Amino acid sequence: MAPTAQDSHIQPSDRNNAASFPDPLKTLIWNAVLEKATDVHLHSVADGLRVLHRVDGMIHPKLLLPPAEGRKLLNQLKSAAGLTIVRSFSPLEGQLVWPDEDMRWEIRVTLTPVRDRESAHLRLLSVPRDEWDMAGLGFCPADQEKVSSVVRSPNGLVLITGATGSGKTTTMYCLASLLDLRTTTTYSIEDPVEFKIPYIQQIEVDEYHGLTMHEGLRTILRMDPDLILIGEIRDGDSALVAARAALSGRLVLATIHAQDAAGAIDALHYLGVPYHIIGSSLQLVIAQNLVRRLCPECAQPREPGEAERELYAGFGLAAPEHLWDCGPQNPGREDATCDIAPVPATICPECHAYGYQGRTGIFEVAAMDDEMTTLIRSGADHQQLLSCLRRRGTRPMMQDGLEKAAAGVTSLDELTRVCGGRHRESPRPVPEALALEEMMTR
Ligand SMILES: [Zn+2]
Repeated sequence: MAPTAQDSHIQPSDRNNAASFPDPLKTLIWNAVLEKATDVHLHSVADGLRVLHRVDGMIHPKLLLPPAEGRKLLNQLKSAAGLTIVRSFSPLEGQLVWPDEDMRWEIRVTLTPVRDRESAHLRLLSVPRDEWDMAGLGFCPADQEKVSSVVRSPNGLVLITGATGSGKTTTMYCLASLLDLRTTTTYSIEDPVEFKIPYIQQIEVDEYHGLTMHEGLRTILRMDPDLILIGEIRDGDSALVAARAALSGRLVLATIHAQDAAGAIDALHYLGVPYHIIGSSLQLVIAQNLVRRLCPECAQPREPGEAERELYAGFGLAAPEHLWDCGPQNPGREDATCDIAPVPATICPECHAYGYQGRTGIFEVAAMDDEMTTLIRSGADHQQLLSCLRRRGTRPMMQDGLEKAAAGVTSLDELTRVCGGRHRESPRPVPEALALEEMMTR
């Protein structure tokens, strides 16, 4: 049975019961929930406290509170999150819970001293119900079929790859939910645990107490697991244990940092897993990124230009009759007041004038077949792997995005913002470059 948001709800304690929150704090959180923000930043600056929301991956400045009000809000936040109100000279972490009609939001609060002031960050964690199916994540029917058949096989390694913040963890949980988790012994080792998922024994990496990812994985293997989730593979020992577990009759779903499917194979090898073990264990690689969905209420159609037609032709696609852009936005909205006021009639009430509403994945779904397995085992380079994938019909992420733009799901502007110039598939990265990138994203 697939986990639901209902199952994952945590119960609020009396201490952080939202009904008892003071009004300014309620307003702050209510606005963030209303706009579907994933993060709220409270930055102390010379003239007060800046409030910023991250919505669908983008930062939006909301308002500037005067210094006295800012300090008051920070104190209310600390109190609600169970933290001491006394000014702290080291970072503090707490949490609070916000009940909504459909779901309960667990909010992780981090406070840190910034020079002679304090700043705060709120991470709003939820498991939205409608995202727990593959179509909801943005997989096309053909890719859903490919993924389902591999995940329902009893063993093998499935890698989910992409940049930081590309939705890899959500996809990993979604894949796990294709199985009946009530009758599957499922363990995960994660750094950190982002969502609490029912029926999965979730272990969080805690290096301070000696619980490294490698140690956690070794423990899991002694506990008779059917399914192992790893988020994310960053060291050679863990990579090797994961691949070997997949060879010994377990299904292993793991995230790893790389740009595309062929890059994930390179990344595993750079971590020290021999090509013959990768070839024998790897069943599927999903490379992904997230693009914002156009707001269906205010998106505007237009005819594609010449360069856009050429872009489609470059991927063997016919240019669509129409492409879609964001509707006109109210330029004043970004600095609008944070008060719970009726949305002015001049802006789109559906998307709060952002032009976008929610995000969807763009995917490259590479199922391994005999030819790919033979190539990997022979130590083929990035370009050879890429050529083989394209010859066997694996669509690059950009192509999936172009098809979504043609269907009016997203705009080409958004696709270009996310993919940049990377849709021109690049030669194999050198190991040093990968290691540096890895370090920067930790
Ligand atoms: Zn709209």
